[in-house]
Parts: sequence; structure tokens; C-alpha cells
Amino acid sequence: MRPSASSVPAIRHRLQAFGDGLKRRQDVVRGIQWGVVALYAFLLVAPVAAPNGVLSGLARFSEALFWGVWWPGVILATLLFGQFWCGLLCPDGTLTEFASRRGRGGKIPPWLRRAGWPLLGFAWLTVCEQLTAAHHSPRATLLLLGGASLLALLTGLLVGRGKRVWCRYLCPLSAVFSLLSRYAVLHFRVDRAVWDAAPRQPGNSVDCPLLLDVRRLRSNEKCSMCGRCSGHRGAVRLALRAPGSEIAALAGGEGDPRRWEALAIVFGLVGLCYGALHWRGSVWHAALLALPAPGGVSAAWAVGAALLAILLPAAVIGGSLSLALLAVGGTQERAVRLAYGLIPLAGVGLLLGSLEYSLAILEREGVRVAQLLPALRALILAPALFWSARLGWLQLRADVPGRLLPGAALAIHSATLILLAACYQFAPSAL
Ligand code: SF4
Repeated sequence: MRPSASSVPAIRHRLQAFGDGLKRRQDVVRGIQWGVVALYAFLLVAPVAAPNGVLSGLARFSEALFWGVWWPGVILATLLFGQFWCGLLCPDGTLTEFASRRGRGGKIPPWLRRAGWPLLGFAWLTVCEQLTAAHHSPRATLLLLGGASLLALLTGLLVGRGKRVWCRYLCPLSAVFSLLSRYAVLHFRVDRAVWDAAPRQPGNSVDCPLLLDVRRLRSNEKCSMCGRCSGHRGAVRLALRAPGSEIAALAGGEGDPRRWEALAIVFGLVGLCYGALHWRGSVWHAALLALPAPGGVSAAWAVGAALLAILLPAAVIGGSLSLALLAVGGTQERAVRLAYGLIPLAGVGLLLGSLEYSLAILEREGVRVAQLLPALRALILAPALFWSARLGWLQLRADVPGRLLPGAALAIHSATLILLAACYQFAPSAL
């Protein structure tokens, strides 16, 4: 339902006031951030350190909070509203910025600015999480999440002056969040004309912790929605936009579609996440895990088989999607833009995979929810399928492919999306 004409200015005003409030009340934001750091540290360390009697209850609580509430909640919030988690609540962000204000303040080396680190880190974390079943093991959770926090702290100590270099260039989760947030309905909108016309005030520059050029900000990609630029020169405000409008704008030549990001969407966000989260209940997954080791059982062979069980579906799904998009687009450039249209469906696929953790935890506690899974999947997949189809259609309409008739391109694109949605809908559940 569209908001009525009279409610639009009210929504706009409230959003702007919220953004300005974030900037004005940094003291409150910081207090909340340190509260989250304390809770996070307690839930990570206490289940490992607590005596046995207390351990089981605490470990179950922290498992439910990390894997049942936090992970699906952050994915959904980022897809719908942008990376508020990163800018306002993430403990790693708080730690790295705190360390950076007191650390060595070194220059950021060029190798650290390379684009692939977050994606490599995300693939590493996903594979390790599956191999160690970290969601069931407080020790493995401490090792994986705590290890990432230590790296964030170390990065802050070594480079940047009061900035979040970790969040901008290294954080593994930013590989996913920066893609999902392109679809979000909120963003910090910059009016370049107002910015340029505003009188200069010496010493009044934006303290963007992500080191972004706020004057040229057009994308949610790296913005952590911290609000520190809100109201700057009267030109920046938190604003509403149509879902997926940033992706749709690629059709009009706006934005900066990148080949490696398209590969990250098809092989990472779709393929790797499917292999890690949706394939665990399949007979093929079990068959790969049970591959007999030559010359008897060996730990290295078991790890290799587990890796293969994740990477094989990732390669097959990512490869098939790439070929389908190339066939529809006719050129690499169009296929890259079409890949961005997969974000709503792929994001929801990731959300469904993580929601299975929540359902598994509820089942273990005696709440019978497994039978709800098909309906839940259909309910969540339907709007995402619509939005991905719409975004693809906008790309195709703007730039009709050379080799295929528009009707044929649309048919192949729709069939590809429906097949992908069916893969999520009928994925063998491990519940
Ligand atoms: S552009 Fe920078 S300062 Fe502004 S909200 Fe985003 S991260 Fe914060």
C-alpha cells in the first residue's frame, strides 16, 4: 500500500529527524555500542569459561541469540533498511574505531585496499562454520567470531586515525551486507547542488568512519548508516527510496556495476550460501561426505570431502546462473547488470538458510515448527522472486539484447529465476 499524500512529508520529516538525532546524540549511540560489546563478549566467552552445570543453559541461550536471532535478523534488516547494524551496533566496528583512535595511526597499505578481501573472508568463515558446526559449538563460535573481532581490533591499532578501516576494506560480512543494502529502502541522500552552494565553514568536515566521499555518495554499498553526515551543509538526509531503486538505476547507466561483484553474487551470495546452508539435508551431500578415503580413514580426506560437499553445488549453481545470464544479456556487460537483479532472491535465500537455524533451535526446545518450513519459504520467496524479476525486466527493457528477441530473453530470465526460487523452496531441509 502506498503512503497517502499527506503522510509522505511526515515520514520524510521523521526520517530526517532520526538521521539528525543519530548525529546529535553520538554519546547515546556510543553508550549503546559499548553495551553491545559487553553483551557480545559475555555471550562469546561465558559458555566456554562457565562451569559445566551453568554451561549448557548459557551455551543454548548464546547459540539461540547468535544463530537464531542475530544472524537472520541482521540479514533481513540490512536487505530492507541498509547497514544500520554495522554503523550503530556492531561490536567489531566499535572495537576497531576505538583502537584506531588510540593506535599507531598508520597509512592504509595499497594491498589492504584490494576489493577481494571481504569476499575471501566470507568464503573462509562460511566454510569453517560448516566444517566446525560452529552453531552447535561454543568453542568454535568463540574461535570464529572472536578471531574476527581480534583482527578488527588489530586493524584499528595499526592503521587509520579514528576510522573503521576494518569495516571498509576487510570485514567478511561486508561482502554480503554491501550487496544486500543496495536493495534497501533507506539511504543517506546527498543533494550535490545544495552541498556545493552552501558556504564553506573551516573545520566543518564530515567525520565519515568509512572514509567515504560523502559529497559524491550515491550508493548504500559502503555506507554504514551511522548518521554522522546527516544534515551536513544542509544537503544530507536520511531518506526513503523505492526498494531496489539503486539496482534499477544501473539500467539507466547510473552506478558502477563491477564484474567481480557480479561473480560474488552468483558464486558467493547464491552458490556458496546454497552449498553451505541449503544442501546439508541432500543425499548427494551425504554421499560426498561418505566418500571412502583411499587407504583408510584420514582427517585430511574428511575435511576435503566436506569442502567438496559445499564447493561443488556452489560451482554448479554459480556456473549455471552465469551461463543463463550471459545467454539472456548477450554481452558480459549486460550479464553483469542482470546479476545485480538477483540480490533480492539471493538475499532471501540466505535469510531462509539462516532461519533454519532458528527453527532447529525451537524444535530442539520442543516447539514443533518444522512443518511450517514450506509455507514460510513460499511466503518469503514470493515477493523476492517478484522483485528480482522486476529488476531484470527493467534491465532488459532499457537495453534490449542483441542476439535474442526481447520475448525470448525475458522467458529465459524468468525461467532462471523460477528455477532458482524452486531450488530454495524444495531444498532438502536438515531439520
Ligand atoms: S556516508 Fe559515512 S558518515 Fe554518512 S552515514 Fe554513511 S558511513 Fe556514516
